[in-house]
Amino acid sequence: MSQPDPDAWRTQVRQWLATVLEPVRAQETTGEAAGLAVFHNLPGAEERLLLERCRAYQRARFDAGYQALTLPRDKGGAGLTAAHAAAFAQEESAFEVPPSTELISVTVRLVAMAVSLFGTAEQRHEYARAFLRTDLLACQLFSEPGAGSDLAALRTRARQEDGGDWVVDGQKVWTSGAQFADFGLLLARTDPDVVKQAGITAFLVPLDASGVEVRPIRQMSGGASFNEVFLTGVRVPDRLRIGRLGQGWEVATTTLGFERTASGSGNRRKGGTFTDVLALARSLGRTDDPLIRQRLADLYVRTALRAATVDRVARTSASGGRPGPEASLTKLMASDLLTRTGQVAAELMGARICADTGEPGTFAWTQHLLGAPGYRLAGGTDQIQRNLIGERVLKLPPEPRVDRVPFSQISGN
Ligand SMILES: Cc1cc2nc3c(=O)[nH]c(=O)nc-3n(C[C@H](O)[C@H](O)[C@H](O)COP(=O)(O)OP(=O)(O)OC[C@H]3O[C@@H](n4cnc5c(N)ncnc54)[C@H](O)[C@@H]3O)c2cc1C
Repeated sequence: MSQPDPDAWRTQVRQWLATVLEPVRAQETTGEAAGLAVFHNLPGAEERLLLERCRAYQRARFDAGYQALTLPRDKGGAGLTAAHAAAFAQEESAFEVPPSTELISVTVRLVAMAVSLFGTAEQRHEYARAFLRTDLLACQLFSEPGAGSDLAALRTRARQEDGGDWVVDGQKVWTSGAQFADFGLLLARTDPDVVKQAGITAFLVPLDASGVEVRPIRQMSGGASFNEVFLTGVRVPDRLRIGRLGQGWEVATTTLGFERTASGSGNRRKGGTFTDVLALARSLGRTDDPLIRQRLADLYVRTALRAATVDRVARTSASGGRPGPEASLTKLMASDLLTRTGQVAAELMGARICADTGEPGTFAWTQHLLGAPGYRLAGGTDQIQRNLIGERVLKLPPEPRVDRVPFSQISGN
């Protein structure tokens, strides 16, 4: 099927956006990636409110046909090119998009994609569609206390009973948004007797099922947006298995590719951007300070480089609706930028940053500063991204490993 001309399509997107969103106030339009940390540290009630605003926008986007732009049509996507997705993101950056939450991003950009690509037609119809529309929310039940970077070491077990149902026992950790989620995309060991990657299967687990217990973890920023999830004798019907038996590792690595792309591209969200730091410097009367000017220029260059790299990687690396290994580059650049942005804000504010809670309508830099380090870990740590770049992008010899499985097949979440 032929693709719509990107320029004509862009005009159509802009017109649609104007019907559902307010334009961004003039000085804010930079199209830059923003402070991912902002949505990760909110207290419960605030996060819930944000979630509902964000869901309303995602629903409108789905209904207008602008969700899952690069996913193939036969998998439920719009079947468009990376150039169309880039054009949409650019147009969107000129509007007041409700700041996303971690859970929305995981639902729409990770779990919905995995279910679309690996699920059956029924699963796509019943679940992927509902995830893309955010009618149902889903978290990512991958990491365990003994399985983070080495995700394939996971020990949560799923055993199949005679009737076909699975019974799951184990523990997951750092599960973002589990307390608000309807489902979790779970990785579980279904065969302990084969090489560890080959014995994993993926499932969608209803989080209200008997035997699921979600315990929030309090973060240093005050919020509690991620959780421990305990699974004790949880029954999961076979119709909620995603992909073939033993295909869980492929589901995992593909989902993680989507996660790196999502973290690297960082939809424009309110707060924590270069523009915000610049505005902060201006409001504090510090823009004539030579050292601050150096720091601002450095941040600006890194912001521009990240944006250009995201664009280039999206155009050249993805295939069949799946991200390529170069997504690790953008994830690394984005988490580095978040940290540096927070550091410059902290330099500008000095001791005042300790008491910065954000006035109504402004951005709380404390949250950004305390949340940014987490993004060097989430979706695979900085070291893991560099290992992936070495092995899968530069094709360097694999890391020496006891089990002799190439790093690209064991690098985790
Ligand atoms: C904000 C946030 C949100 C998260 N959300 C989720 C979620 O929703 N769902 C989920 O499943 N998980 C989630 N996680 C977990 C995240 O994926 C893990 O924290 C991450 O994969 C690292 O695993 P770990 O914490 O067990 O650290 P470890 O794997 O124990 O690593 C410890 C240190 O050793 C280094 N290291 C380990 N192996 C290597 C190696 N081979 N080469 C070089 N260095 C290495 C790591 O880089 C790290 O510095 C989240 C984490 C954070 C911080």
